[in-house]
Amino acid sequence: MLFSDLGLSEDLLNAVTDAGYIEPTPIQAEAIPYVLMGRDILGCAQTGTGKTASFTLPMIDILAQGRAKARMPRSLILEPTRELAAQVAENFDIYGKNHRLTKALLIGGESLDEQAKVLNKGVDVLIATPGRLIDMFDRGMLLLNDVKVFVIDESDRMLDMGFIPDVERIASMLPPLRTTLLFSATMPKEIKKLAEQFLMNPREVTVAPPSTTADTISQGLLVLGRPHGHGPGSEQKMKRDALRELIKHEAPRNALIFCNRKRDVDIVHRSLNRHGLEAARLHGDMSQPMRMETLTKFKTGEMRYLVCSDVAARGLDIPEMSHVFNFDVPTHAEDYVHRIGRTGRAGRKGHAFTIAVAADAKYIDAIERLTKSPIPRIKLDGAKGGQLDAVEEKPKRQRNRRKAMEHATPIKTDVLATAENDKTPDAAPAEERPSGERSRSLQRNGVRKDELPEADDAPVKGLGDHVPAFMLREVELN
Ligand code: AMP
Repeated sequence: MLFSDLGLSEDLLNAVTDAGYIEPTPIQAEAIPYVLMGRDILGCAQTGTGKTASFTLPMIDILAQGRAKARMPRSLILEPTRELAAQVAENFDIYGKNHRLTKALLIGGESLDEQAKVLNKGVDVLIATPGRLIDMFDRGMLLLNDVKVFVIDESDRMLDMGFIPDVERIASMLPPLRTTLLFSATMPKEIKKLAEQFLMNPREVTVAPPSTTADTISQGLLVLGRPHGHGPGSEQKMKRDALRELIKHEAPRNALIFCNRKRDVDIVHRSLNRHGLEAARLHGDMSQPMRMETLTKFKTGEMRYLVCSDVAARGLDIPEMSHVFNFDVPTHAEDYVHRIGRTGRAGRKGHAFTIAVAADAKYIDAIERLTKSPIPRIKLDGAKGGQLDAVEEKPKRQRNRRKAMEHATPIKTDVLATAENDKTPDAAPAEERPSGERSRSLQRNGVRKDELPEADDAPVKGLGDHVPAFMLREVELN
């Protein structure tokens, strides 16, 4: 299949060629012709599949006809986070370079007045997070009667973040005669309900279910044994030592380093810098301009390592990411797939390493059940306090382990840095309030969800980001 078979205009095909794309990805090949026909789409696809272009490309051609009136955007794309919204806006710049379309980005953390000024000039494409959009609508700064194409992107993330009531309200403000495109990496029943509510006879397009990890990503799991010291601090320190060893061995071109909690993002970030590894961090508490600046530094290669949480890095598209390190095993198995999917994109080779301790056994189990393949165990030779395969397992798990070990890639490294080298404070800061709780209390004070400093950090699935201490305590496995 060629891009020229999809019914796109000549100008658009030229922009696609300039972007360096040779052929459409499966979701593009399946969705684009239907969007051009005006059909609704229910797309089950995650980032990395080319789904953004599957809706931005046909939208550009559809919007090429006609002109926008002041404060009346002609299309609307909802994104759960500011970063994703900014990324979609970049896509319009790349693919729309031969068109004269105007766009506006309505995201929290940026000046309302500036955004209102852009809207007043009339915009063809409006890309927004739900909270800011509703705010501006309620203030009478925009009207949605002229929206012809409505995109709900990353719907399952919207659900996770509690945005579905906002999405429903926004949909009720739109004209009934429109094209609606709904994308989601997973299809929980709430999203199916949303699709039934808003889509008319949709064309369903499903690509790469979220449980699959790309073949281009080589994976490794480093299971650390008991630390020499006591308490969670020594275990964390052992993990930081192991992370540096992995980095030393791998010499990544660039890497994302995932932590489960924000306070660990800070600690790991400080620790890496102290050890001469120039790292940036991405954090819900940072201001929007700071987040953007950090991302630019990382994307341009000025910073080689980016320590981040799942939410801050959600959907980040950095095409040539060589490595992903999981400093913590994610507590939601799907997040493992999302995390490691940041590398090995568009057919390139990528590497993903996960550092685990004995208490992570249940999370590893869940990941391996989801992806239906064991993660190869790796070794750090000479790792102080860190013996691999230290997790005692049930016979069934041992069978899996043996299978995994057949594919294991042993890593030879020097002895780990000594305790004296690491001056990072081991004592974690006083217990943080779960970010969801903080969000709720701020919301009660009249602050909108996506205006909150950590709005996109709000955990809602299960226990979210916050893992109570009792769950991190080691359990004896039979
Ligand atoms: P997405 O799934 O939209 O996050 O896109 C993932 C990455 O694939 C982005 O870097 C796109 O620039 C890239 N991409 C999208 N479509 C194509 C294509 N047809 N060929 C090669 N790369 C693509």
